[in-house]
Parts: sequence; structure tokens; C-alpha cells
Amino acid sequence: MGKSTGFMEFRRELPPEADPADRIRHWQEFQSKASEEQLRDQGARCMDCGIPFCHTGQIINGMAAGCPVNNLIPEWNDLVYRGLWRQALDRLHQTNNFPEFTGRVCPAPCEGSCTVGLYDPPVTIKNIEKAIVDKGFAEGWIVPEPPTVRTGKRVAVIGSGPSGLACAAQLNKAGHLVTVYERADRVGGLLMYGIPNMKLDKKTVERRVELLRREGVTFVTGTEIGKDIPASRLLEEFDAIVMCGGATKGRDLPIEGRELKGIHLAMEFLHKNTKSLLDSEHADGQYLFAEGKDVIVIGGGDTGTDCVGTSLRHGCGSVTQFEIMAKPPETRAASNPWPQFPRVYKLDYGQEEAKALYGSDPRQYMISTKRFVGDEEGNLKELHTVGMEWKADANGRFGPVEVPGTEQVWPAQLVLLAMGFLGPESTVLDQLGVEKDERSNAKAEYGKYATNVKGVFAAGDMRRGQSLVVWAINEGREAARECDRYLTGDTLLP
Ligand SMILES: Cc1cc2nc3c(=O)[nH]c(=O)nc-3n(C[C@H](O)[C@H](O)[C@H](O)COP(=O)(O)OP(=O)(O)OC[C@H]3O[C@@H](n4cnc5c(N)ncnc54)[C@H](O)[C@@H]3O)c2cc1C
Ligand code: SF4
Repeated sequence: MGKSTGFMEFRRELPPEADPADRIRHWQEFQSKASEEQLRDQGARCMDCGIPFCHTGQIINGMAAGCPVNNLIPEWNDLVYRGLWRQALDRLHQTNNFPEFTGRVCPAPCEGSCTVGLYDPPVTIKNIEKAIVDKGFAEGWIVPEPPTVRTGKRVAVIGSGPSGLACAAQLNKAGHLVTVYERADRVGGLLMYGIPNMKLDKKTVERRVELLRREGVTFVTGTEIGKDIPASRLLEEFDAIVMCGGATKGRDLPIEGRELKGIHLAMEFLHKNTKSLLDSEHADGQYLFAEGKDVIVIGGGDTGTDCVGTSLRHGCGSVTQFEIMAKPPETRAASNPWPQFPRVYKLDYGQEEAKALYGSDPRQYMISTKRFVGDEEGNLKELHTVGMEWKADANGRFGPVEVPGTEQVWPAQLVLLAMGFLGPESTVLDQLGVEKDERSNAKAEYGKYATNVKGVFAAGDMRRGQSLVVWAINEGREAARECDRYLTGDTLLP
């Protein structure tokens, strides 16, 4: 702790973001860089408290409290305060293979558990993380570090999202020969084709993938295991398999009118948009147009927010986002104390942009869609909804109940279903004979990652269900450790 009075002297300060009304005209990231002086002051706010909850990564009340990869936050805050950036980068890479991803997209449960946050806005941990790794790249400190010794063991990783990439990076570091199979044409999973470019520039993803390639990881894209290559063949050709295929089954809304033209799963919209952007800057027209349309996004999470931001960049006529839950409180409820993740109202980037354009938050809370209505040609025309309230049933269990007299009709030509995911696709699991848990995820204990099939491991959303990038990195790293132990009888991986 370089400056013992820092938390009293400096206020929380983040670098300014581009004006929402301007940034919706492009697909670039919109956060500006903080100056070194600003970052030093922000690092100085860290109290290096006796028990830094910020790096614990515990699940409390169903949410992560503290950093799931156990980043050594107080240490690198102090190093940044002292101007020891190179050392800060080394500390950061000890626990996180890809801080340039989390520094951009993580919801920062660390900040919700920061001790300064008990009485003042928390330390800007996420921004400091991003600044450290961005400086590392800018200074040329991050270079390929291939292993000096190879074990001769071969591992197949299925899926190239953050869990697959973290797993591949760690196994490669241990000297194993790793091949990552990806069915999409580009590597990165949801880092590439889920999270849009303005939140995570795809050059940032490709830069890290290229480093991994130069360290010796092999990537095979456009190849679906279970279809193009039978999963059983991997069992014959590799010494171990780590399944990192994500939770890709989107939740649908099978109500009246679902077959109408203009209703799509959010992932179809987001995937096609980024692919067309990267392939041709949208010149090929191979994406779903929101331009001029009244867009309704059903679902209030990250995916929904990304649909709002993307629709605005297309130049939609209007955008509304439906959320079945109640509007969160402005400050922590008594049932949600520190150091839990704060469940409070906030404007994420997409809503902030919609508000700047149309004057209000696009979210409608406690609303449920009853049916879709189309025109004579089968095109979506409108949505019929009803208001909801949360009520206890006879057993005292709370759930949403319709409120009579609150029916509404919403004009819409494009509806995007962003209501979460139902778990992994089952083809690979079935072909390998891997047991599933009660939520249809690959069954493997957290911390062990071994499935019922010898030599087959599972990590990330495929094992834990839809989650976060930081959890996927955590699981990928730990699954690599267990896989290494399986292959060699011991492991030095963390
Ligand atoms: C739109 C959206 C926005 C999100 N935004 C955020 C955010 O801002 N912050 C955050 O922390 N989290 C966010 N998340 C969640 C986060 O992206 C995921 O939790 C994380 O990517 C999971 O990583 P993963 O490696 O387990 O799986 P994924 O990233 O889903 O990667 C799995 C990969 O496996 C491939 N695959 C599947 N089956 C096969 C097969 N049989 N053969 C070959 N390849 C296969 C898929 O094509 C995919 O590329 C978001 C999710 C979505 C959908
Ligand atoms: S990875 Fe997420 S939780 Fe961990 S320090 Fe970074 S922003 Fe915080």
C-alpha cells in the first residue's frame, strides 16, 4: 500500500466515454484512456485491507463476490501507484490469461466487494486492469512464450471461447500439444461472435489468438466436432479431451405468432452482425437489418443490452427492451449487503445510448409477451403484452403473475429473443457418453472438471451453464490443471 491516505484524498474517477449520441455512429470501442497520473491516484485509493474481499471470488447469494480468477488486486494497485507497470503486468498474468478481455467486458464483481465501497465509490479495479494490459501490449512486453520442453502428450479442446482459450494456453504452457477445434470460421467463441465489437474490439481477440498460435497452439476452425469429425475419433487420436463448447441452446418463446417473419434469437442477430462487419464492413448485407424498424428486445441481460446497442448502430426506428423482473433498487437492499454483488439499477452502455437518443431508458419492467401478430404476408406487425407482478403462491414461493387490465399493443417489425440459454447442445456429450447434470450441462465437479468418461474434461458454460467470461477463464485454467495432472500424474499449473 503505497499511499496510506489515498482513499481519503482521491475520488473515484474513470476516463470519459465517447458521447452516446456520437458513438452509435460507429462500431469502435468508446472508452478513452486514463492518464498515468489518474491511474496512479486511482491505484492509491486501494486500502490494501487485511482481508481483500475483492479477490476472493466466492459465490454469495447466487452471484460472484470478488474476482473469480482471484486476481491479486491490491498488489497490482500498489504497483501501479508506484509506477512499476511491468511488475504489475506480471502479477496480473499470474492469475488471468486474458486481462484485456475481462478489463473490457467483466461486470467487475471485484468492485462490488471492494472495502472502499463500504462508504465511498469503489476503486476502479477493472479500468486499472485494462490499463495494465493495454500498456503491456503498447510497450511490447507481451510476446509469445512457447514452452521449452514438450511432453509429447496431445490434447483436443472443443470450442474456442474464453474457457477453451484459457485451457489451451495453460496446457500448452505445461508442454502438451494442444489442438483447439472451433465450428465457427473465427476463433473466440462469444468473445468473437457474441459480444459486439464496440464492447470488445475483435482485433483485441485476434491479437491474443495470434500469440497463442505463435506459442504452439493449433486452431482448426470451421470444424464441428460431432458432425465434421466424430467425437469418438478424438478419443483415439488424443490423450485427453477438454470440452469447452459453451451453453449455446438459446431459450425460445413458443407463443402464438412465433412463426412470423421478423422474430429471431438474439444470437442469430449478433453473430451475423459481427461476421458481416468483419467480412465486409456490412457491405455483403449478410445480416439482419434493424434499420428503420421498431425493435423489441425480449430479455434484460447482457445479450439484450448488446441487441439494443447493435440495433441503434443500424439506425433502428425505435428500440424497447422487455424485462420480466422488477426494476432493481437504486441502492443495495438490506438483503443484498456488501460484499455481495450489488443488485442495483444501472444503465449499461446500450440503455445509456437509447436514453441519449430517445430520452428514456428503453427497459420496460415486469412485462410479459402474450402473442405476436402479423400482417397478411406473414410479417411481424405487433406484440401483445401484459403487466406482471411478483406474488407468493400457496406455498409461499414467489413468481410472476399477470395483472388484469394491463394489456398493451406494441408495434414491432423486429423482435430479438434474449432470454438466456438452456445449456449445451448434446451431440458431443452423447457421442462421448458423457453424463449430464439436472440442467443438461456436462456433469463434472467444479474444481475437478473430470466427466464420467476417462480422459474427458468439461469447463466453462458447457459445465456451469450460461455465465461470465471471467468464470470461463477460471474454469479453463483449472480444467487444464486437472488435465495436466491426469496426463502426467502431477502438475505445476495453478
Ligand atoms: C451476447 C452475449 C453477451 C455477453 N456479454 C458478456 C459480458 O459483457 N461480460 C461477460 O463476462 N460475459 C458475457 N457473456 C457471457 C460470456 O460470453 C460467456 O459466459 C463465455 O463466453 C463462456 O465461455 P465458454 O468458453 O464457456 O463458451 P463460448 O464463449 O460460448 O464458446 C464456445 C465455443 O464452442 C464452439 N463449439 C460448440 N460446440 C462445438 C463443436 N461441437 N465443435 C466445435 N466447436 C464447438 C462454439 O462455436 C463457440 O465458439 C455474454 C454472452 C452473450 C451470449
Ligand atoms: S477479472 Fe473481473 S472481477 Fe477480476 S479483477 Fe478483473 S474486472 Fe474484477
